[in-house]
Amino acid sequence: MERTLIGELGKHVGETVSISGWVDVRRDQGKMVFFDFRDRSGLVQGVVLPGSPAIEAAKDIRNEYVVRVEGVVNKRPEKNAQADRQNGDIELEIKGIEILNPSEAMPFDISNDTSGIDESVRAEYRYLDLRSKRMQKNMRVRSEFIRRCREYLFSKDFTEIETPLLTESTPEGSRDFVVPSRLNPGKFYALPQSPQQYKQLLMTAGFERYFQIARAVRDEDLRADRGFEHSQVDIEMSFVTMEDVMAAVEDMVTTVVEAMGYTIKEKPFPRISYKDAVEKYGADKFDLRTDEDKEKGILAYAWVVNFPFFEKTEEGGWTFTHNPFSMPIPEHLDWLMKGERIGEILTTQYDLVCNGYESAGGSIRAHKPEILEAVYKVMGFSAEELKERVGHMLTAFRYGTPPHGGIALGIERNIMNLTGETMLREVQAFPMTRGGQTAVMKAPKALTDKQLKELGLKIDKK
Ligand code: ASP
Repeated sequence: MERTLIGELGKHVGETVSISGWVDVRRDQGKMVFFDFRDRSGLVQGVVLPGSPAIEAAKDIRNEYVVRVEGVVNKRPEKNAQADRQNGDIELEIKGIEILNPSEAMPFDISNDTSGIDESVRAEYRYLDLRSKRMQKNMRVRSEFIRRCREYLFSKDFTEIETPLLTESTPEGSRDFVVPSRLNPGKFYALPQSPQQYKQLLMTAGFERYFQIARAVRDEDLRADRGFEHSQVDIEMSFVTMEDVMAAVEDMVTTVVEAMGYTIKEKPFPRISYKDAVEKYGADKFDLRTDEDKEKGILAYAWVVNFPFFEKTEEGGWTFTHNPFSMPIPEHLDWLMKGERIGEILTTQYDLVCNGYESAGGSIRAHKPEILEAVYKVMGFSAEELKERVGHMLTAFRYGTPPHGGIALGIERNIMNLTGETMLREVQAFPMTRGGQTAVMKAPKALTDKQLKELGLKIDKK
């Protein structure tokens, strides 16, 4: 018999159906055995009545067994109906149960919120942790958010393009993860901290509107809202100003989250300068929600603009605050080109803040070689170093690169806001532990001597 999804059973009252899924709960009442069965579409109660040929099998079955069940969908007597539960008005009268695969007892209770369970145990059995209701919901919210962003961007004529994972370092203010090259012993690729340079080159290539659900990998100290890996809705557009990019992202975010049933506190999103934000909130990330907003799950977005382009390094030189590829605001371009009033130069960076997190960030870019050169000059790079770092960008900018700008939306931080989670790892399927251990699998691991030799690497035993 063909499988019916549990969520569809309400349409099959009086019929004999076959469902497949997991045993969520079993309640053995002696003569009768009750079950809750679970599949991707939901839960339903089943009962094995006295004298049913299924009673023997029912006695053997435990929670989390995978089963195929045949039965009749019955309306529950009114007094037993549970209006507040999915399928609360029906019950499956079980005629036969086939065990597709048994299960050992769960290493921890997955029938409740698992956030209090030891992190390393959850990580080791992440595939079981992900069965819990909260984690199922978080992953589905994530999937829906990404799907809706994609749909929105396609509707606005964006092209989705993948960029390499094995690449050269793009500075995003973090350390690189590096990958040794077998073909070039002693040389290394860097995993992308972001697709920044490639997406700009796609503007040179004439795509005008690019996006990618991109993976960014950054070797930074792990915190509640930071992991080595995160994903971003990465966007770049040609022939745009700050206003255009901000409007596009504001419209995308509004369309997506409202379609998902969320309420936005203030539209259009309020704007504040970096200076005012620091004076008013003590930081460039702030939470505009009242306690009541928080209870209602409201999303409070705001744009932060007018960031300083440069900040002093510990050694007394200058470095970029956000992105070396940015353009200063038009009024300050002249100062940059002359190398004057460096500390006062403001960048076209725009950050989108939501409920205390940085939800997105981007800028208009330097699209002429001399502007990017001026930025690297301020940062003290020699002509040689400049060429080594961004020579390929300077070359590209000499071949008709249009004015362009973009943004990246941090997917995890957005999903944290949508789900109310405060830890990044609650919205990733297989996150790392705080100690940098992968979920389920045991990386990082040592290489074999053969691999080391092939890669031309020697491990310093210290
Ligand atoms: N590359 C930046 C980041 O990953 C975002 C951008 O400026 O588009 O944070």
